[in-house]
Amino acid sequence: MSNNRDNKILILKKEGLYCPAGDFYIDPRGQVKRALITHAHSDHARSGHENYLCSDSCRPLLQIRVGQKNKIESIPFGKKQTIQDAIVSFHPAGHILGSSQIRIEVRGRVWVVSGDYKPQADRTCEPFELVSCHGFISECTFGLPVYRWQPEEEVYDQINRWWKHNKDSGQGSLVFAYSLGKAQRILAGLDPSIGLIYAHSAVHPFLEHYQNAGISLPEIKKIEKDTVIAEGMVIAPPAVEDSSWMKKFRRVKRGFASGWMAIRGPRRRKNIDRGFVLSDHADWPGLIDVITGTGAEVVKLTHGNGDALSRFLGEKGINASVLNESSFREEELD
Ligand SMILES: [Zn+2]
Ligand SMILES: [Zn+2]
Repeated sequence: MSNNRDNKILILKKEGLYCPAGDFYIDPRGQVKRALITHAHSDHARSGHENYLCSDSCRPLLQIRVGQKNKIESIPFGKKQTIQDAIVSFHPAGHILGSSQIRIEVRGRVWVVSGDYKPQADRTCEPFELVSCHGFISECTFGLPVYRWQPEEEVYDQINRWWKHNKDSGQGSLVFAYSLGKAQRILAGLDPSIGLIYAHSAVHPFLEHYQNAGISLPEIKKIEKDTVIAEGMVIAPPAVEDSSWMKKFRRVKRGFASGWMAIRGPRRRKNIDRGFVLSDHADWPGLIDVITGTGAEVVKLTHGNGDALSRFLGEKGINASVLNESSFREEELD
């Protein structure tokens, strides 16, 4: 994208990143003929395209996201597929189950579109794979040095201790977390010996696909009209925070799990008792390790303010710049 050779590999169009050699888009908006999808979050996976291609473990999640009518093909991680004059393959991004970086090779030149990613360990998805490339498109959601994550075991410990403490004072617990990815990640770390575990109905459709992929989850109950939460734990998406659904949980302690809790903290959100810093994106050291690890000469930053990161990379001799997505509106997912 920075020179003529790379113009043949990826172009930023109004629908999103386009590969002319293969006549396909990556995570496009609008309606296109062929869409390669990095993962099933709604700001990357939209319905209405003619053909979809994703990783095998992304497929059932994408099908839920875009609806049964959409035609989805999938391939295993690492398998090369030729699409016209491009060779593409999907590689684990470590963001949520099935999330992929997409490697595109055109006449020996390689670009990787990382989607959302994190190199940190996560027991609910395939571990991140470092892929060598000439050009790398990187998210930078948490592209500031203040963002440094603790291992997930420590966060699980904090959540379980908080839950136990609430239970000992006769109260239930509720943690807000996005229904795909974050919710399953928290569920996987809850200690079922403390009490019963419930999830909002938006979380349930994805659970069987996590279990089919071999991810171990505790027993998770549905919330019915007559369900009494008592001293249990509930996982619910943030979208229901101000809805009538919450009436049931007036006396329940509320937590929120997100990378943003690292600086915004729970105090900035009304009605939240406790923030847990748990993110599905790379932190500052993670971004730098990955970007320098790919060996890329050219780096384009998306998803967030990339100024600090592009300056840092520039000082290391890497040609980094912010991909101008100003016309795009992204949904905040973390
Ligand atoms: Zn995502
Ligand atoms: Zn995203």
